[in-house]
Amino acid sequence: MSPGTAAPASSPVVGAGPGVAEICSTLIRFDTSNPGGVERAAAEYVAGFLADLGLEPVVLECEPGRSNVVVRLPGVDPTAPALLVHGHLDTVPAVADDWTHHPQSGEIAAGQVWGRGAVDMKHAVAMDLAAVAELVARGRRPRRDIVLAFVADEETGGQAGARFLVHEHPELFEGCRVAIGEVGGFSIPALDGTPTFAVSVADKGLRWYELRRRGVAGHGSMLAKDNPITGLAATLQEVAGAVDELIVLEPMRLLAEAVAGRAVEQPEEVRAILLAHTGAFAPLLAAALRNTVNVTRVGGGYKDNVIPSDAWARLDCRYLPGHEERLHRVLVEALPERASLELVRRSPATEPDHASPWFEHLAASLRAVSPAARVVPYVFSGGTDNKWFAELGLATFGFTPLSLPAGFDFPAMFHGVDERVPIESLEFGVRVLTELLAL
Ligand SMILES: [Zn+2]
Repeated sequence: MSPGTAAPASSPVVGAGPGVAEICSTLIRFDTSNPGGVERAAAEYVAGFLADLGLEPVVLECEPGRSNVVVRLPGVDPTAPALLVHGHLDTVPAVADDWTHHPQSGEIAAGQVWGRGAVDMKHAVAMDLAAVAELVARGRRPRRDIVLAFVADEETGGQAGARFLVHEHPELFEGCRVAIGEVGGFSIPALDGTPTFAVSVADKGLRWYELRRRGVAGHGSMLAKDNPITGLAATLQEVAGAVDELIVLEPMRLLAEAVAGRAVEQPEEVRAILLAHTGAFAPLLAAALRNTVNVTRVGGGYKDNVIPSDAWARLDCRYLPGHEERLHRVLVEALPERASLELVRRSPATEPDHASPWFEHLAASLRAVSPAARVVPYVFSGGTDNKWFAELGLATFGFTPLSLPAGFDFPAMFHGVDERVPIESLEFGVRVLTELLAL
């Protein structure tokens, strides 16, 4: 088959190696909990897999055990811009007692692969590997250079992973113009029953703050002059409540139109459609229609009979692309006297570009496998390693294609108990990625 020729949806998998479910299961059995584990053994497995295909992966570490694997598949057209496909090898930890199957078992049961990382995101690493194996087995050279990066440390921000590669080894990504990673390319419900896939065209940005509330210290038996802890509680209500403005970016309006199967203009209508008709995806999508503020930690005081002089809280705030200043301004304006706000961490949002030809490439790869597919953009409510690759000037998308069975609560799998992925969804994803890599 020549490069760029679409395979029929029923094309058999000709590779002789392990299937995608087996690769996913194997990856899950490496404990790459972050914090807690390291990625080296998983990275060595991935590098070995790629080397067995005749490729030449490199393994890079910025600290012992925190391994990253990068490999380049040379394309037949040196003038074509290169594509970066990235995925993270680490996972969040899991408490085994809560699970049906042990989170590091990689159990294959009831047509699904079970375990920590099954959707976040060892499934995608497995699909990428299976797609590359498929290309190689068919003797099919990609048109453009494909760079694959399997990285450490996404779950605590990517310092030892994507950030390290981008800052210390940018030459590995030479010629790349676009990056695809998590979280997108999955099927969502639509009222007219058309197979509809949501591709992430932007990530929200992050601002973490420490909010401090000063008060007047005193004895726990007295009438308090100004208890900073009760003051803090009131302040938190006010600050969190101040950020409730509906903000509808164009990708989200287009998504609502696809779900409803008709034109949608009004922001309130966008919200109503996405909340009412997208099932388990509704909370994920609703969070992309506004800036958000969540109080995640709180503290103050040191003894039961002492009113302390101050109290603190941590705020996890996420902002939509182009709306960072608005978030900060609203918080500052809601701040009462005796309270202060300090930024303790920031990550940029990525800029949406759903009109880019790259979006059409992704859509075409989905339609090559699911000809009736409707492919729509959306904004991801969280952050991913795409923010690091965007520093290199790459266009970024969330695209780990999965055709999900009706009713499957995909968003709940992320960092959830009994994380699992249907095998038929994985096999669908491999077919789509095989098409994409050849485009
Ligand atoms: Zn992830």
